[in-house]
Amino acid sequence: MKYLGAHVSAAGGVENAPLNAHKIGAKAFGLFTKNQRRWVAKPLEKKSIIAFRNNCEKLGYEPFQILPHDSYLINLGHPDKEALQKSRNAFLDEMQRCEQLGLDRLNFHPGSHLNQTDEEQCLKTIAESVNLALDKTRGVIAVIENTAGQGTNLGHRFEQIRFIIDHIEDKTRAGVCIDTAHAYSGGYDLKSEEGFKNTFDLFDEIIGLNYLKGMHLNDSKKAHASRVDRHDQIGQGTLGSEVFLRIMQDPRFDNIPLILETPDENMWAEEIEFLYSHNG
Ligand SMILES: [Zn+2]
Ligand SMILES: [Zn+2]
Repeated sequence: MKYLGAHVSAAGGVENAPLNAHKIGAKAFGLFTKNQRRWVAKPLEKKSIIAFRNNCEKLGYEPFQILPHDSYLINLGHPDKEALQKSRNAFLDEMQRCEQLGLDRLNFHPGSHLNQTDEEQCLKTIAESVNLALDKTRGVIAVIENTAGQGTNLGHRFEQIRFIIDHIEDKTRAGVCIDTAHAYSGGYDLKSEEGFKNTFDLFDEIIGLNYLKGMHLNDSKKAHASRVDRHDQIGQGTLGSEVFLRIMQDPRFDNIPLILETPDENMWAEEIEFLYSHNG
């Protein structure tokens, strides 16, 4: 079964996210459990946690249908010691929020070397950051999102993601989220039928489909291998709608959250309906 939804607003409290997801006919959703552009947030209130859990139960959202995303400020591979510690503290806080909400996975962007260290060192630092957070939490999988490889962001090659997983101690709590726009602009040509097959065969060979814990379904405003991260509405970008219809018909993408992060939220209900109408 396909669980498709969108990254919905949690304005006014996390408990509003499942309500917003339900309104657009989503069977899955993504959310930020705190303001994604700020370092510090006040702890989740008990009544908010209870309301979130109740709303999810009432509307039929189980943890495996929910893919929270961490703050954009966090860089778990930061070359500077103090800045790294700040990111690690913030990441632990995000993991603990997921724990409190009863969620089982947290999606994050691996990190950037900022031209101050080499790629391998940065990837090792990222893995160590994950290990530290996993040590202090329970039940939440750290889900590495592939990136477009913009600037010095790592995680645009499957080999880099594999390297991080290799250095994570508890592999039962390591996962991967593939963002289609990032994959395409990051260099994987998943647009054609053959390209689609090759990309996910390669994913399985290098990382393993068992690690796939979610997907972000986005079209791209930018060209293949441009290494620029700009999402577009489904079917309106350089990828086109075919790839998304393939995903909807492919059982390898069953039973994980498939999350739209397309820029115009007014289109989400329509996009969800369109994709479900092609669900084979
Ligand atoms: Zn992301
Ligand atoms: Zn994404």
